[in-house]
Amino acid sequence: MWCFSRLPLRIGHASRRHGDRRFVATVVSGNKTARLVKQRLAQQVEQMQTQFSGFRPGLVVLQVGDRDDSNLYISSKLKAAAEIGINAKHIRLPSCTSEDQVLRAVLALNEDPEVHGLIVQLPLDSEKPMDQELITNAVSPLKDVDGLSCVNAGRLSRGELRDCFLPCTPQGCMELIAQTGVPVSGQNAVVIGRSKIVGAPMHDLLLWNHATVTVCHSRTADLPLQVSRADILVVGMGRAEMVRGEWIKEGAVVIDCGINYVPDPSRSSGKRVVGDVHYASANERAGFLTPVPGGVGPMTVAMLMQNTVISAKRSLQDRTRT
Ligand code: NDP
Repeated sequence: MWCFSRLPLRIGHASRRHGDRRFVATVVSGNKTARLVKQRLAQQVEQMQTQFSGFRPGLVVLQVGDRDDSNLYISSKLKAAAEIGINAKHIRLPSCTSEDQVLRAVLALNEDPEVHGLIVQLPLDSEKPMDQELITNAVSPLKDVDGLSCVNAGRLSRGELRDCFLPCTPQGCMELIAQTGVPVSGQNAVVIGRSKIVGAPMHDLLLWNHATVTVCHSRTADLPLQVSRADILVVGMGRAEMVRGEWIKEGAVVIDCGINYVPDPSRSSGKRVVGDVHYASANERAGFLTPVPGGVGPMTVAMLMQNTVISAKRSLQDRTRT
């Protein structure tokens, strides 16, 4: 059973109508759910501050280079942290930094007792060759609030959910599924994508919450057939609007992680963001559907904050034990 859903919000069941009227999915709002998570975390941080004389959870975002998209994601993390009372710091290393220097920065932050969560913003924007795996694995598993190190990923794959940090995007998806009220246990779940950050941990989380899980990828033979079997469908493939409503089982829970920019001359920016699921057609088949934007994205940030607060609590427990 998914354990983090202690939120007051539970959305009603989908309003599915027959006759000549169209089926419409219930929207599962990540904005709303993330707001509730952040409110709960802010209360917990306030309690910590009162109980442990001004103590605040500490988060460091380590960036190499200066990518525009990374800067945008980092600013939303820093904003969320400020709202909650987390002491967040952004360290930007120039793109000429060597791998060795990045590793040394990570190791120093591992040793800093004021830092409870440490994330390396990916992708690394480096002029020099850099082993991303080596760097993410250098982050102490005790501070790896992105849940990307081998230690945390290994624990998750073995079902040791309480002993690891869960990757933020799949954790946010589980929270959104919980909001629908549809139980995960015993359902047929289909995940499209098998990346380390989305698809693979999503598989693990659904599996250890007792769904029967199928993972699809670029070599899956008949994607529409696999999708049609899903009671719960989670899509993280990075292909704009590829999953069509006609593929989806009627009444399914559909969670769309995709963030894709498509041209839109009607916007001043000349583009708009869409998911991996074709929203209009999916809306006529799914029981529950996450929007893009405003679905999984805000939940990813909220779960990063949640992991940081969990890490800070663990460090306080260690402090009171010694
Ligand atoms: P990756 O590119 O790392 O992985 C994409 C996955 O989709 C791969 O496993 C790939 O298969 C699979 N795939 C690609 N094309 C197809 C296809 N035609 N049929 C079936 N499977 C396919 O992407 P990420 O996992 O990092 O991200 C996925 C999406 O989620 C992106 O849109 C990204 O922007 C978004 N995202 C959103 C986040 C959020 O906070 N909302 C956070 C992280 C990502 P194969 O392994 O065979 O190549």
